[in-house]
Amino acid sequence: MKLLVVEDNRWMRVQLERLLQRESYAVDLAEDVATALEKAGINDYDAMILDVGLPDGDGFELLEELRRFYDGPILLVTVQKTLPSRLRGLDAGADDYLTKPFAREELLARLRAVTRRSKGRIATFVEVGDVGIDLNARRVYRNTEEVRLTHREYTILRYLSLRRGQIVSASELMEAIHSEHHDTMSNLLNVHLSSIRKKLGKGLVKTFRGQGYMLADAP
Ligand code: CA
Repeated sequence: MKLLVVEDNRWMRVQLERLLQRESYAVDLAEDVATALEKAGINDYDAMILDVGLPDGDGFELLEELRRFYDGPILLVTVQKTLPSRLRGLDAGADDYLTKPFAREELLARLRAVTRRSKGRIATFVEVGDVGIDLNARRVYRNTEEVRLTHREYTILRYLSLRRGQIVSASELMEAIHSEHHDTMSNLLNVHLSSIRKKLGKGLVKTFRGQGYMLADAP
């Protein structure tokens, strides 16, 4: 899952990026309204987290702008906890609202909730033959035994699971596992995929030559 995080406070931005990357999200960062609109215009995000107080504008206006072309989940984060600003955010098209300071777990839980709602048809437990992927608990099983995956392997599998039934191109997968700040040299998609197949079965991820990859259907 690829996220856009808009936050002007550098420390907060770094904290959020680390937290979300640890949870296998790919994270793009923007520090102001202009950068946020630019990135949102060229990238495809699964969800966005917006700070309301930004240096070159107001997060509510940014939200309204984004809603002209983006219909994915948006989580607003602000220090204003008064009811009017909360309602204003929801009116402007936010899916949920979080008041600073917040607990990390709360942010993650709300993020999972808004993304789940927007992908209502997708189950949080995906079963493919003898492989089970628990997207909430971030655990993977084979024949009911838990299989340990690396961070990147899990991210690939999660991405394919959320797009079940669709062929995902190699470049989209690469993008999902690399946020903009990561170097790409050491992360070879094929290495991760062959390791996933070794751990969870050859047939789990299908290759469509020249097109991409797809999570297999049930056996
Ligand atoms: Ca701010």
